[in-house]
Amino acid sequence: MPRETIRTMCPMNCHPTLCGMTVTIEDGSLVSIEGDETNPDSEGFLCMRGKAAHEVVGNTGRLLTPLIRHQRDGADWTPTSWDDALDTIAARMQAVGPKAVGFWQGHGNAANDYGFGLKRAQMERFANLYGCQFWDPAMICWGLGAFGAGLTGAIETSTKEDLSAHSEMIILWGANTVSQASTLKHVEIAKRRGARIVVVDVRRTEASALADEVILLRPGSDTALALAMMHVIVADRSWDAGFVDQHTLGFAALKVHLQTMTPQWAEALTGVPAERIIGLARSYAAIRPAMVVIGGSSLHKGGNTYEAARAIACLPALTGNFGKPGGGLGPRHGGRSHGAGFASQSATDRRVPGAYVPNQLEAIVEALETGAVKVLFAIGSNVLSSFPDTNRLRAALAKADLVVAYDIFSNQTIREAADIVLPGTIWLEEIGAKATNTYVHLSDRAMTPAGDTRPVYELYKGLAARLGVADVYPWANQEAAMNAVLDHPATRHATVADLRSNGGRVALNVSQVAYPTLEFATPSGRIEFYSERAIKMGLPALPSASADDPSGTASTGTASGGSGLTLAHGRTFAHFHSFYDHGRALPTLAAREDVPDLWIAPLDAAERGISDGDAIDLSNEQGAFQARAKVTPRVPSGPVWIRDGWPGLNVLTSGASVLPNAALTTFPFAVGQASFAARVEVQRSDIGRARPPRSDARQSS
Ligand code: SF4
Repeated sequence: MPRETIRTMCPMNCHPTLCGMTVTIEDGSLVSIEGDETNPDSEGFLCMRGKAAHEVVGNTGRLLTPLIRHQRDGADWTPTSWDDALDTIAARMQAVGPKAVGFWQGHGNAANDYGFGLKRAQMERFANLYGCQFWDPAMICWGLGAFGAGLTGAIETSTKEDLSAHSEMIILWGANTVSQASTLKHVEIAKRRGARIVVVDVRRTEASALADEVILLRPGSDTALALAMMHVIVADRSWDAGFVDQHTLGFAALKVHLQTMTPQWAEALTGVPAERIIGLARSYAAIRPAMVVIGGSSLHKGGNTYEAARAIACLPALTGNFGKPGGGLGPRHGGRSHGAGFASQSATDRRVPGAYVPNQLEAIVEALETGAVKVLFAIGSNVLSSFPDTNRLRAALAKADLVVAYDIFSNQTIREAADIVLPGTIWLEEIGAKATNTYVHLSDRAMTPAGDTRPVYELYKGLAARLGVADVYPWANQEAAMNAVLDHPATRHATVADLRSNGGRVALNVSQVAYPTLEFATPSGRIEFYSERAIKMGLPALPSASADDPSGTASTGTASGGSGLTLAHGRTFAHFHSFYDHGRALPTLAAREDVPDLWIAPLDAAERGISDGDAIDLSNEQGAFQARAKVTPRVPSGPVWIRDGWPGLNVLTSGASVLPNAALTTFPFAVGQASFAARVEVQRSDIGRARPPRSDARQSS
């Protein structure tokens, strides 16, 4: 075959950053992967992870044939055929019945689908028509933050283009550049224009380099900071009275609620000096338009943390920033622009009636423990590594009759819990699409599937044929299925052919500014400081901080709450959660981060006799985890920080529910996130020093 260059998308899901790639193929082999200079969102940028994606192709660690084993603790994986594997799986499903079957998809299911939702919909369509359980990965990611913002009434986000063109002040609140590279570029443009940039986070992130001011606060205390900012704005009488009168609900109750939430009160909770809280509130109230960019995932891990997004979302209402260019809330992982959408293929209205396990981690684990669910599918999901309280989850998985994993590399879940492994195609071997806040981009097929790998819809088709479930795959092929999804006003009813003829994308028919008509997504149609909906769910009527527990662990489950250091976690440039066997399968990423580094403040390290580079043990009542100390002033005393996605890390984190079941179906996205809170004791390992201290350059990762 001649050499050809095809447009595709990076197979990570940093949304709303989704970077374009051009892939050159010759004689069926990969020649190169480059950033797509024509992509209007990423403009040619690829980070280390995106550049390392070429190591997926031809990787000797890939799963290339279905595998089956008869003992979970054994390594006796035996190659089998898709037909035999599907026959075995279908027979086991028939034996237990649909309600005892569960599909648990992960980020891996969206490697060439994020924001578009076809692969998610195809899993849901099978589950709805067959009548089995399914659960969504947003429950460990952005769902809880979106729940908080949604209670206030502000799910939509304004675009990065609006931010760079109009914002005079930008608060990156738990939002980091390693997760939002495309947004960063627009923050830089705004800064060059003179916009004031403030970073609020638990550590000095990469985004801090851009900031005029960095505010470091204790993990789980974001709600207190937002409430104290509101206290100052109200005390100063600097709120936007016209906006508050016309477009909000519950301001009188909010004023009473805020009376005791002084900057001094918040200082005790956040560790941020009162005068800095006052300064931040006054500058936010004075500089218009001001945009807050809320972080996607880490900010919402910890007991009660949905309240952070709920409280932060009140700030633009108090200051009249909603609905104005450059104001409101900016790009957020999982957030959509006003007018965005795609045609659903989930067949939700045809779901077989019955009792279903809620999209709540504790409920899923209990269903496995009690035998209510006996056959479990992990679809692009390393559940054992990604979800909290690993030891409990491992024990629950051990009770399942059958665990089936569909993936492209082995991982902790496959090694420790699976019975059958089905090998998936990588993003270059199948057609897909990804949607940012402003475009839908084609991720076109560039290569022939390796070995006996198949796209995941072949799993649903194969099971449907064996189980007699009709209409699971009504399309002629995946391109036809994509056309059905694209048939929506937001794309102006585009087709895959339209995307191909338009350079691989179409612009979405959306507003750059969220809530341009000032009709908000609440029962009252207003921003709700005070929420009757919340009361009905058993939640506080107004955004509330936990006054006695800055770590946020007291109210909804603890992992050794009350002593030790608060464990915070997040992203680096060298990983995307536990993708690619925790990043170990891609040599560039594995070399960049060879062992888990725990960021610990010099004072906390000194108190424990820990030096930079020491091997250390983290432990609490749930379990233990080994890491290497990175002693750095970039994290304040009190919390410690580590990147997520290390196998075994989540033995330390709490799986306790944050929201009551009554809250789970409030919005059309998954919110049943567990707390993920953890307090840990940190001490030097008995084995002594792991290696010499790192160079400064390496420490900036
Ligand atoms: S920022 Fe995210 S989407 Fe862009 S290249 Fe890196 S990993 Fe891929």
